[in-house]
This record gives sequence, structure tokens and C-alpha cells, in this order.
Amino acid sequence: MVVLSALCAAQSPDTMAAPKQETPLQALPYTPGLDVDSMDRSVDPCVDFYTYSCGGWNKQNPIPPDQASWSVYGKLTDENQRFIWGILEDAARPSPSRNAVQQKIGDFFSSCMDEAAIEKAGAAPLEPALRELAAIKDVSGLAPWLAGQHLVTFGYTSMMFGFGSSQDLADSTQVIAFASSGGLGLPDRDYYLKTDARMQETRKRYMAHVQQMFELLGDSPTQAAQEAQTVMRIETAMAKASLSRVELRDPYKIFHKMNRVELQALTPSFNWNAYLATSGVPGLQTFNVTEPEFFKELETLLKSESLENLKTYFRWQVVRQNAPYLSTPFVTANFDFYRKYLQGTEQIRPRWKRCVQLVDYQLGEAVGQVYVARTFSPDLKARTLKMTKEIEAAMGQEITALDWMGAETKQRALEKLHAVVNKIGYPDRWRDYSSVNIVRGDFFGNFERATAFESRRELDKIGKPVDHGEWQMPPATVNAYYDQQMNDINFPAGVLQPPLFDPRMDDAPNYGNTGSTIGHELTHGFDDEGRLFDAQGNLRDWWTKQDAAAFEKRAQCVVDQYAQYVVVDDIHINSKLTEGEDVADLGGSVLAYLAWFNETKGQKLKSSGGFTPEQRFFIGFGQWACENQRPENLRMHAITDPHSPGKYRINGVVTNMPEFQQAFQCKAGQPMVRAHRCKVW
Ligand SMILES: [Zn+2]
Repeated sequence: MVVLSALCAAQSPDTMAAPKQETPLQALPYTPGLDVDSMDRSVDPCVDFYTYSCGGWNKQNPIPPDQASWSVYGKLTDENQRFIWGILEDAARPSPSRNAVQQKIGDFFSSCMDEAAIEKAGAAPLEPALRELAAIKDVSGLAPWLAGQHLVTFGYTSMMFGFGSSQDLADSTQVIAFASSGGLGLPDRDYYLKTDARMQETRKRYMAHVQQMFELLGDSPTQAAQEAQTVMRIETAMAKASLSRVELRDPYKIFHKMNRVELQALTPSFNWNAYLATSGVPGLQTFNVTEPEFFKELETLLKSESLENLKTYFRWQVVRQNAPYLSTPFVTANFDFYRKYLQGTEQIRPRWKRCVQLVDYQLGEAVGQVYVARTFSPDLKARTLKMTKEIEAAMGQEITALDWMGAETKQRALEKLHAVVNKIGYPDRWRDYSSVNIVRGDFFGNFERATAFESRRELDKIGKPVDHGEWQMPPATVNAYYDQQMNDINFPAGVLQPPLFDPRMDDAPNYGNTGSTIGHELTHGFDDEGRLFDAQGNLRDWWTKQDAAAFEKRAQCVVDQYAQYVVVDDIHINSKLTEGEDVADLGGSVLAYLAWFNETKGQKLKSSGGFTPEQRFFIGFGQWACENQRPENLRMHAITDPHSPGKYRINGVVTNMPEFQQAFQCKAGQPMVRAHRCKVW
């Protein structure tokens, strides 16, 4: 799933009148899992349940100037960051008693906060890479240079293409190399291809931004304007050869296993030998080329564009990818285009916040060790694990009872369900960062070394047994995920905190909120994409034809439903893109409700605060999704985000649930009652 009224909590009464000065949090503030103040009870729950649950929250929580949107998840993330800020400040104090983990996270943070040194350095950290690029004599010389750059930039959004590792889609026990599309400076290929007025305007602004960055590197305005044209032409060609986000959701479309000869034949002008040697994997023989057409286009570009033009593209990509870690002119220009113009954010986040996020991103399991020790008790782990098992049991019950699935498919579905591994809170074994050299006072060096560590770690997995204990998210993350090839669900400690999971509350709102999220992740294993993988995480069709058709018919009901909803302006949800998430939202709540019903069967549940237990389940559910969004951000997400906006993630679900309609005594014909309900699980 994918992803701060409590700001005053850390202030003493005598500082309340002073201008708001943010300070680290010593503990995470408490927000109840069901908050009556967040509701708007003047709204009829049968007319607009989202606003009924979240109307108060929406009024009380205007979007802070440094955010593109604001939500219950975003607010908890922000609180987490303020809490981690305290952890990092402690760790940054030089002391002989610091352990190796504290030294790394503390000194990385301290170097990131050293603005004077970063300003003084200006663009100097880029000089070695740009000098090497300038010295390249022919096209084949680009490959080893690019490999070096890929190691120190973030994987799959890499310049020109992405290169990393992943499980073989046909045999999940093997990790192989993946070469994928990438290399765009705008958030999606649609930004290059759509012809409406807004997109044309966006492209103009983008070109102006590219030009500005070249000028910051010292080029004349005339030269920089020409260079921006070159970048636009090359990236547009790449965009045309890239698959759409909807196509990328089809694993069969991105599975093209090749040997080295075949890969080389796809791009004869690219020196793969040199690329792989510099990447430290000279012997690789097996590759999944996710989009062969994209690599064919790269070959065309390598042949048709001059070496100088290709270098211009790479210069742009170097400065684009590193801009946030350079001096103020680069940081500001990058913010102005990507965050302000594209997402509507008014102000850049304070430096501490950017540094906390970076350290947590790059050394997440080092930060996570301290975070977990202070926020995630064994008792909390036991409670959330128990809930997970109950939701799995509910799914078993649902599958067994399905009237549209035959016995054969049911048996395999149950096999897959029983094979799901639950990962709760944090990894059993922490990632070892001992080989990452973190030097106090060398921010850019630390950033590059931490990135290179991660790139190498990815490449080192190739040919080795799959590590099933690995996590893709650090423990402090307020998010969760299902991994279709690991067949596991992962809930970092950060997402199991109030108000999402509230140990002080009874089961009703907790099952409504976190329970629905657990159910959501679980059903991802059986959504339009996840269902294509078997219990072992292999891309293999285990459905009878008839059952697959019955599933698709039911999922199509959800696709048609969400296609009706408007995101912003006249832009509707691209419900082929959001299909998996929408189906998971619906299934998640159905399962959570059933699990809660099973768990509390025989108990005498009482009303509380004027709400029946059933109503409290649904209000807990509604309140996970409270959010305010800037229109610019909504426009971007309408293209890039596989999740629907919060309002529809709530209203779209409850309109399909008779349990909801019963809880609030809604009548046929009211907006929260669909005449033809969709039901998959
Ligand atoms: Zn999801």
C-alpha cells in the first residue's frame, strides 16, 4: 500500500507561544485508532462514508507547505522521521561508547547536516564523473563509464536503462540479472507522449529546467537550450519504446530470458563485456531483458545520435540524479521542478527531514535496529502476528466457500495461501553494513559508498540461493507489501503503530484498519497479477480455464466500478492500472471483517461512544485513508500510482459490502449501496 497535529506534543507550555520550532521527538505521539474528532457526523455515512469517517481530519489537517499531500500514513511517517531524527542526533555525538552501527548512522547524518561543507563543494562532487565522460573517445567507451555510474545511482530509475537482479520469473529459486527500461527524466513515458495542453506545458517547463541545470554546470544559455532539445529528443525516443504502466503489470510482457550472445545481438553497439566487467559481474550469462523493444531503441539511438549528443544526455542524467545532494542552487532547481511544479509542494522540506529520510533509506536496517528496540515490543509483534494468522484462516474459509471456483483450483489456491510467509516488524537477521565506510564530513562520498554497497549487494545475489529473510523496506517504513515471488507478506514496525494499529483499543477498529491492510496484502497473492504465480513464486498457470475466466469477470466488475471515479479535473482513475490494488482493498476488508467476526464470536460486544461494534470496525477502516491532496499531486498520481485516491479506497469498498450497509442501516438506492455489488473474495 504503498506512500502532524501532534507537533505540539514535544513542546513545553512556555514555548507554545514561540514560533513553531521543530524538535526531535523522544517518543512517538499517541493518536487513537478510532478518533471521533476526525469524523464529520453531519454527513450521512450511507451517502459518503469517507467524509463521515475523515471529514474532521481533513479540516484539522491542512497540507503542510513542505508536503505534496497529507494523510494518516504521511503524518505517521513524519512523526517517525522526527523520532528517528532524535536517534540520529544522539548517534551523531562523537563518543567512545558509540557502537559501529551508531557511528555509521550518526556520522552519515552529521555529514548530511553539514551545510557549510556541502555549499562550499558546489558541483565539485560531480567533476570526476563528468571529466571521465568528457574524455570518452567513442561509443564503446560509454559502457564502462555507465556501469560505474549505475553503481553509484539508484537502480531501476537509472540513466539509460536499469540493471540489477531479481528472481527468475519461471524459477523463483534462482536469482538472475535483470536489464530493464529506464533513463527518463519525467515521471512516466506518458509525459512525453500525451498531447493535451497540460502535458505540452509540462514538457516546456521540463526543457526550461534541463536548460537551467546545464547553465548551473557552466554552459551558456544558448548552448544549454540546445542541449535541452537534445535531451528531450533522446528521452522521447526512449519513452516511445517503453511499455506503459498497465503493460508492465503483466509479468509475461516483461519476461524475456536471454543469454549473453542474444543480449549483445539486441544492442550490437553497446559494449556489454566492458559494462559487465566494470559492474563486477564479468561472467554473467543469463539475463531477463524486461523490454527488448526498449533495448532495440537504445541501439538505434547509439547509432543515430552523435557521441556528443549522447554525452549531453548523460551529463543531464548525472546532474539530475545527484542534484538533491549538491549545493543550494542545484537542490532548489530540482525542487522547483519536481516537487513544486509537478506536485504543487510549496516549500522544500527542512534539511533535517531530507537527511533523516536519506539515512533511513540507505542504512535502513541500521536505523531500524534502534527504532525497533524503542517502538516495537515482543507483545506487539505477537498480537499483530496473531491477527495475521486469523486473517489467513478467514481467507482459507472464503476460498473453500467460493461458488465460482472449482475444487481443483481451490486446492492450489489453499496450497498457495498456506505457503505464504508472514514477516512482521523487522528481519530476523540484520543487514551487515560493516563494509560501508562512513566518514564524518564527507557527505557526497558517504552517499556514493552507501549507494554502491546497495548496488553490489543486489548484483552479488545473482547465482546464490534466495535469501527468504530479506526485506525490501526498512523497519521504520509506514507501508507494507506482498512479494509475489517470495510469496510473503511484510509489515514493517512503522506501519504497526497507532493510529493504524492501536494496542490500547479493542479489536473492532484494529481489524477494520490494520486487519484490512493485512487482508489487502494477502489478497495481492491472488489479484490479477499475483494469481499468475504459484505457491513457490513461479510464473505458472495453476487455474482451470473456467476458473480463470470467472475470476476475470469478477475483477472486471471492480475495474468498471473504479473507472467511473474522477481523480481531479476530468481525469478518471485508470482502473486497469489500479485493478490489483482495488481488488486487494475490497478483498482485504471482506477478510478482515470475517476474521474479526470469527475472533469475537461468542463475545458480548458492547456499543461504545454511540457506535455499535460493527460501526466501529468500519470507522476504523475509513480512518486509515484520511488524506488531503494537492491537485498537482493528484494529476501526477493519476498517471503513475497504481492506488486509487483515499476517498475511493474507502467508498469504493464499502459500497460493495452488505456488512457495511447492515451496520449503518443503509437503504437500496443510497450512494453507498451499489445495485450490482462486485465480489471477488
Ligand atoms: Zn497493495
